[in-house]
Amino acid sequence: MDHASQSRREVLTPELAYLVDGYRRFRSSGWEPRRDRWATLKEGQQPRVMVIACSDSRVDPSQIFDVDPGEIFVVRNVAALVPPFETTPGLHGVSAALEFAVQFLKVSEIVVMGHGMCGGCQAALTQSMHGCEPGRGGFVADWISLLDGARDDIVQRHGTSGREAERAMEQAGVRVSLNNLRTFPCVATKEARGDLRLTGALFSITDGVLRLLDETTGEFVPA
Ligand SMILES: [Zn+2]
Repeated sequence: MDHASQSRREVLTPELAYLVDGYRRFRSSGWEPRRDRWATLKEGQQPRVMVIACSDSRVDPSQIFDVDPGEIFVVRNVAALVPPFETTPGLHGVSAALEFAVQFLKVSEIVVMGHGMCGGCQAALTQSMHGCEPGRGGFVADWISLLDGARDDIVQRHGTSGREAERAMEQAGVRVSLNNLRTFPCVATKEARGDLRLTGALFSITDGVLRLLDETTGEFVPA
């Protein structure tokens, strides 16, 4: 490391220094030896798959699916949710990414991947942020209200706490997102034509197992 980068380093927080260390490893092992791949990617991306996953730091789709840059188009948010097709004014970030993936990148597969021990799903279940102001939990509460419809039935059967209830909420979250995906005309049309496939999945942090939703039986089956 030269003197200039050494002194630049001294002003970094420990957190950023940790990231920069990782970046340097990536430069030497992930970028330099794979210049050809990056040269191709420079021309554009052609991912075949879109993945919608939770922002949770433990469930990185690129790591779980062991894919290279350019292979999956990813949206991550609290609880891996897809909102329904809405034309109300607002900033529809997930819808924009979905539209881009389906209509412009023309992905042929969309995977919605929820996960075990999901804090967003748990908050939907307990409604712990209900009534909070925006900036104090209100944004999360609003977002996860997408699960309210599925919640009622789960609370009746399992209550609002415990792994049984949480697991049911996590599974329901994936189903809600799949249903909402199908409210987008471009998704529904392409799925009906056989040009697009939708798959639900759940990754278990506890045992590292990925389960895929069989929509005919409603069961999540180890992949
Ligand atoms: Zn989560």
